[in-house]
Amino acid sequence: MSDLRELYQEMIIDHGRNPRNFCACEQPTHVKEGFNPLCGDKLTLYLKTDGVVIESATFTGSGCAISTASASMMTQFLQGKTVAEAKAMFERFHQAVTQGDLSDVENLGKLAVLTGVAEFPARVKCATLAWHTLMGALDHSLEVITTE
Ligand code: ZN
Repeated sequence: MSDLRELYQEMIIDHGRNPRNFCACEQPTHVKEGFNPLCGDKLTLYLKTDGVVIESATFTGSGCAISTASASMMTQFLQGKTVAEAKAMFERFHQAVTQGDLSDVENLGKLAVLTGVAEFPARVKCATLAWHTLMGALDHSLEVITTE
């Protein structure tokens, strides 16, 4: 388990330092800002979707390693997924990191590396910020999404 934890930590550090899909997407259909005042994490999420399939997901912003890694992994996951698949993954991911419920962990894929934050309540919002922002974007909500 400690080896696995180390591997998870390395992946988080890697994504935190070299985030994937870190750019503003051209001609996005959805743009949403998210803010986690507890830590100071800020991000802007850009989606291009036809309403069913997410063709492109990118982000910009600044935040701690966990928030950046989470947004990076989330955008990787989202490419080519349907909106329904994205929402289902949000539920699964949220359940795992907020309640430490790992019963569905094999369905999280790479996102499982972030489930360790369940042990650190102060960091849970860092890990869920990108996902809350995603839900806000898909719902076309106009407010800035905050984890508070
Ligand atoms: Zn943070």
